[in-house]
Amino acid sequence: MPRDSSHIPAPLSPLPGATGVMCPGVMCPGVVAFAGSGPGDPDLLTLKVLKALQEADVILFDRLVSAEIMALAHDGAILENVGKEGFGPSMAQEDICARLVHHARKGRKVLRLKSGDPSLFGRLDEELTACETADVGTVILPGITAASAAVAAIGQSLTQRGRNSSVRFLTGHDMKGFADHDWAQLARPGEVAAVYMGKKSARFVQGRMLMHGADRATPVTVVENASRADQRVLATTLDQLPADLAAADFGGPALTFLGLAPRQHAAALPHLRDQTQMELA
Ligand code: SAH
Repeated sequence: MPRDSSHIPAPLSPLPGATGVMCPGVMCPGVVAFAGSGPGDPDLLTLKVLKALQEADVILFDRLVSAEIMALAHDGAILENVGKEGFGPSMAQEDICARLVHHARKGRKVLRLKSGDPSLFGRLDEELTACETADVGTVILPGITAASAAVAAIGQSLTQRGRNSSVRFLTGHDMKGFADHDWAQLARPGEVAAVYMGKKSARFVQGRMLMHGADRATPVTVVENASRADQRVLATTLDQLPADLAAADFGGPALTFLGLAPRQHAAALPHLRDQTQMELA
């Protein structure tokens, strides 16, 4: 029986405001492509983002986009380091928005490259809104987020039947300071959360979790530079998190998992052995 496709909406890209020009490649003149460069390993780029890198006239990139990835841009491209890392210090947001609109109005193929996936902790909406307001078309090219690379590095799964049927992606701090969350929910056994930008807030997170009844032995894993040659993994517990993190002295970007231990490490901890055996079964 033929499928009724009347309910399928028209494709979203380019979004309203685009020139309407049919482009042979991924990038269109006068349109801004918001793309995710993944966690750092160039092999984790999508083919679409690789094509965008090779077609773009101008690339505005964040600090966490790796040098190996920027090396894939075509030779003639204008490269602008806008130095943004999550909520960290950066070129002022208005200035980044103004740069995007400026280049698009010149009819350039503009690539706004963010680390990981552009939709996670990347202030994507603010930049989309600026483009929409200026009647500049946009398109979003997803990327592999840091949590996906970090969980692969520890041989674990973000969800697991019988353990957690949901997973949270949260930030350790936002523009107002340490970010508040549903700590009571997060403190429950079996919960899993991926904490972005969580290094400075480790003690705060630990305090909130314990205050809401979390077990001190809750496994916590911090993955620094996930997917990169200098990747490091710290396996600890909620109890030891601040001390172990300070001792590890991670200088690179780090992703903290609450409620997950690396697979081999989980096997060695008595209170996690049953869980691991179940996973391996
Ligand atoms: N949009 C990005 C996140 C930007 S916020 C994404 O989807 O991954 C920046 C934070 O992401 C860092 O502070 C760190 O917590 C995390 N991060 C980014 N790259 C990482 C990497 N290679 N390894 C570990 N954490 C990373």
